[in-house]
Amino acid sequence: MTERSAQPRVTSAAWFKRAKECLPGGVNSPVRAFHAVGGEPIVIRSGRGALIEDVDGRTYVDFVCSWGPLILGHAHQAVVEAVRQAAERGTTYGALCELEIELAETVTSLYPGLEKVRFVSSGTEATMSAIRLARGVTGRDVIVKFSGCYHGHADHLLVAAGSGLATFGQPDSAGVPESFASQTRILPLDDDEALETLFHQEGDNIAAVIVEPIPANNGLLLQREAFLRKLRNLTQKHGALLLFDEVISGFRVGAGGAAELFGITPDLATFGKVIGGGLPVGGFGGAGTIMDNLAPEGPVYQAGTLSGNPVAMAAGLETLRTLKREQGWQKLETAGKKLETMLAPILEASKTPVQLVRCASVFWLAFQGGAAPRRADAIEPRAAKNYRRFFHLMLENGVYLAPSSYEVGFLSLAHEEKHLQHLCNSISAALDKM
Ligand SMILES: *Cc1c(COP(=O)(O)O)cnc(C)c1O
Repeated sequence: MTERSAQPRVTSAAWFKRAKECLPGGVNSPVRAFHAVGGEPIVIRSGRGALIEDVDGRTYVDFVCSWGPLILGHAHQAVVEAVRQAAERGTTYGALCELEIELAETVTSLYPGLEKVRFVSSGTEATMSAIRLARGVTGRDVIVKFSGCYHGHADHLLVAAGSGLATFGQPDSAGVPESFASQTRILPLDDDEALETLFHQEGDNIAAVIVEPIPANNGLLLQREAFLRKLRNLTQKHGALLLFDEVISGFRVGAGGAAELFGITPDLATFGKVIGGGLPVGGFGGAGTIMDNLAPEGPVYQAGTLSGNPVAMAAGLETLRTLKREQGWQKLETAGKKLETMLAPILEASKTPVQLVRCASVFWLAFQGGAAPRRADAIEPRAAKNYRRFFHLMLENGVYLAPSSYEVGFLSLAHEEKHLQHLCNSISAALDKM
C-alpha cells in the first residue's frame, strides 16, 4: 500500500481490449466498465481479505466488496473450506439437499417474521418472483416503487418516474414494454403526502409496495423511521403487501436487516448479496400463509435448475455462521463508527464539500454540503464530476472505491484499522489535490 507510480496498467488494458471483442462493452454488468468515472477498468486477478490485486500486480484496499456480498472479505478461509467440501460432494443435484434446509433454517431464525424462504440465484430473481407472488396472493396488478430504489433488472421494476407527483412508470430501458411499466407507480422517497395521495386514489388496486428500507443504490438515502412506518400502516390498511428489498441490507446491517433495525416487519422480504457469501444466491420469503401460494403448494409458479445449489448454500451458511460466532455485526458497527470518527476532521477541512453518510458497514461519500439527501432528486448532479477526479486519485493511491458516485462502499470483517487508516489518509490526500 505504498505510493505507486502513474504507469499505465498495460496488462489490464490488453485484457480489456480482448474483453470488448467478446463481451458487450467488455463487461457482464454495466458499472464495471468505468463509464461513470472515465478511464478503463482494472482487471482483477485475485482477492484476499481486504485486498484485491489486478493483473498488473497492483494491490488495492477494496471497499466495493463485490457490491456487498463479501462481508467477511475475500477468500475467507472458513468459507473457502466450506465451498471446497461441498464441491467435493458434487456441485449440483437438482434435488433437495441438506444445505438448503440448513440455510433456510438459519435465515428464518434471524429475520423478523420470516417463516419460509425460497432460494433463487440472484437478487433480480428474488424481487421478480416476490412481485409475482404478491400479485398472485392479492389478485391485484399494480405495484409501487420509489424513485432512487433499485430492485434488479426485471421488466416491471426497471421503470423510472415520469413527470408529476405520483407518476405512472415509464420504461427505464429499451425492451421494457410500456404496458408493463404502466402497472408500476413511482413515488419519491421521504414524501408522506405523495404516498397518502396515491393510496387514497388507488390503494385498493395495489398488490405491493417495494422499497429498499435503507436505499443504497442511488447514494445512501437514509429514510425517516416514521416514513417507513407510514408505509407499513397504509399497506396494511389497504390490503397491499409491503415488500422490503433487503438484498443489500439483509444480514449486512444486522442479523435481522433493516426490519430489525426499524422494528418494522414487512409481508415479504428479498435477499441476495450477503446471503450467498460471494456465490450466486438470492431468496425471498415471509409468512407461511403467503409463501405457500408458491408452486407446488399454490398457484404461483416459480422454479430454478440451480436454486438451492449446495456449493452456494455452503458459502452462505458459513458466512452467516461466522458472523454469528464472531459477533460480526457488532464489530462492523464499531468499525463503521471508527471510520466516521477518523474521517470527520478530514472532511471538515476539505474545500470541496463532501460528507460521509453511513449505516452500519455501508457508507457513502456525498460530494455536497447541507443536509444528507433523503431522496434521489436531492443529490447534486455536479457531485458526479468531483467524484470522477476523486475516484482516480484514490485508485492511484491503492484504494478501490465504486466506479460511480451513486454507489456506496462496504466494510468487511477483513478491514482492519490499518485499512481504514489508509482509506482516510488517501481521502485526505485526494481532497487536498482537488
Ligand atoms: C443488487 C440489488 C438487487 C439485484 O441483485 P442482483 O443479484 O444484482 O440481481 C436488487 N435489489 C437491491 C436492493 C440490490 O442492491
